[in-house]
Amino acid sequence: MLIPGRLLGLENVKKLWLNATKNGFSSTAGSSAKKRICVVGAGPAGFYAAQYILKHLSGSAVDIIEKLPVPFGLVRYGVAPDHPEVKNVINTFTKTAEHKNFNFYGNVALGKDVSLHDLRERYHAVLLTYGADQDRQLNIPNENKPNVLSARKFVAWYNGLPGAHNLNPDLSGETVAILGQGNVAVDVARMLLSPMDTLRKTDTTEHALEALSRSRVKQVYLVGRRGPLQAAFTIKELREMLKLPNVQTLWKPDDFTDVPAELPNLQRPRKRLTELMLKSLSEQPAISSSKKFFLPIFLRAPRAIGENEIELTVTQLQNNVAVLTDKIERLPADLLLRSIGYKSTCVDGGICFDERKGCVYNENGRVLKDAVSKTVDKGLYVAGWLGTGPSGVILTTMNGAFAVAKAICDDILSSELSIAEAKPGLDFNKFQRVVTWSHWQRIDQAETQAGQVMGKPREKFVDVEEMLKVAGL
Ligand code: FAD
Ligand code: NAP
Repeated sequence: MLIPGRLLGLENVKKLWLNATKNGFSSTAGSSAKKRICVVGAGPAGFYAAQYILKHLSGSAVDIIEKLPVPFGLVRYGVAPDHPEVKNVINTFTKTAEHKNFNFYGNVALGKDVSLHDLRERYHAVLLTYGADQDRQLNIPNENKPNVLSARKFVAWYNGLPGAHNLNPDLSGETVAILGQGNVAVDVARMLLSPMDTLRKTDTTEHALEALSRSRVKQVYLVGRRGPLQAAFTIKELREMLKLPNVQTLWKPDDFTDVPAELPNLQRPRKRLTELMLKSLSEQPAISSSKKFFLPIFLRAPRAIGENEIELTVTQLQNNVAVLTDKIERLPADLLLRSIGYKSTCVDGGICFDERKGCVYNENGRVLKDAVSKTVDKGLYVAGWLGTGPSGVILTTMNGAFAVAKAICDDILSSELSIAEAKPGLDFNKFQRVVTWSHWQRIDQAETQAGQVMGKPREKFVDVEEMLKVAGL
């Protein structure tokens, strides 16, 4: 396993610690700020909400607690390595982190190191933004076989999430079938089919690059239970697939029989996406000289996993819903990747959690005490995927987080929340090895430096212990 600490050598890592700025260990508990808000989860929702509150609520201070030693959530561990421009939002988050009334406390998990009760005792408002770090299941026979992986784990593996580096996906077969047609599925297909020269210039972790360079994967199916008009991927992501060097996208003409007639009735984004699929279909050669293939197929619902194959039920659309027929097909596949969405979990008994929808019961970000009476639980809020369910791009998450942050500010200003009450503040010194922003900067610097040596933007630490050591903890 290749990790930045080893790559740089211990002496150089030591130098990095010494050179790094030392901000010390402060908490809003001791600050003069009168309105203290705790945000749980340092992903986009958490950072955007913090930014809004600090800007619009004078005399406020925001503490973010984060389970991992490092910030940024899915921007670091979800967004594909070959989309570095998307990660530029980190610059905005870093500006927020530099605000004098902001504190980051990494390596502190709600539900493990601290309870919601403790936080609510010590802050005027608590905002939950801890995202969705599990995945949905198909609930079909043999789903837990070794050759069936979740796309979430595969993404975590190539992005270096601690705990995911031992996934060891078997890429020795030629055919992969990805179940689901969202943008995560397309990200995974692109990572499997992209030329190594492209990937080596990204922050894909070394263990993944090494495995991908030995990959024998030649064809990647993208299986959708509905039709081309309902495809969940978006145009930019499809365009990228169509432009991949040495990869041919092949469509099944039968999937598109009824599609052209529907074109005039479509809204603009859907229309443009459909036109692109139709254009690509019309241009596909009967025989291709490409070495690799991207094969989207529609109207097929996963039914059961077999020996190196998946059984699919042919579906028909009724009012946009996929209805199963009695026709069964078999698709040979060496590796199957389930990509049907992420899932949030309830990490603390004090949260009113909707297990069916996989999100916290809320009304416009105000958490409810229970699902029946719909009474608001004053002082408790939710934003991001934890509140909306696991869909939407960073921009969607930003808009949602701003709206919930505004609700927090409004409630505090209208005295809905009793801000006069003195709160004792949470003493972070009592926690083990808490990562502050300056600690994160040391980790960041060491990763960037390790990456430079290898001609890539960064080489991530994949081990929490290594991160903490580099941070000086
Ligand atoms: P998250 O980003 O998941 O942040 C949640 C944070 O909470 C994490 O840091 C997590 O470690 C922390 N946490 C979890 N549990 C606890 C706990 N118990 N205590 C404390 N902290 C905790 N959008 C785009 O615009 N462009 C893209 O290219 C793009 N690519 C994507 C690729 C993938 C694979 C995925 C899954 C999503 C992608 N998105 C993309 C969507 C984008 O990532 C989300 O909109 C956004 O990250 C959701 O933000 P969030 O803050 O709700 O959740
Ligand atoms: P998604 O967009 O919701 O797609 C989920 C896919 O799984 C859909 O094709 C869905 O089909 C299918 N599915 C769900 N349940 C199924 C079942 N039981 N059987 C078969 N298929 C099933 O989710 P995602 O791909 O995880 O992406 C999450 C969000 O992150 C999206 O908003 C996405 O745009 C965003 N994201 C963006 C980027 C980017 O901007 N580049 C990259 C990655 C992710 P149905 O439509 O039929 O339900």
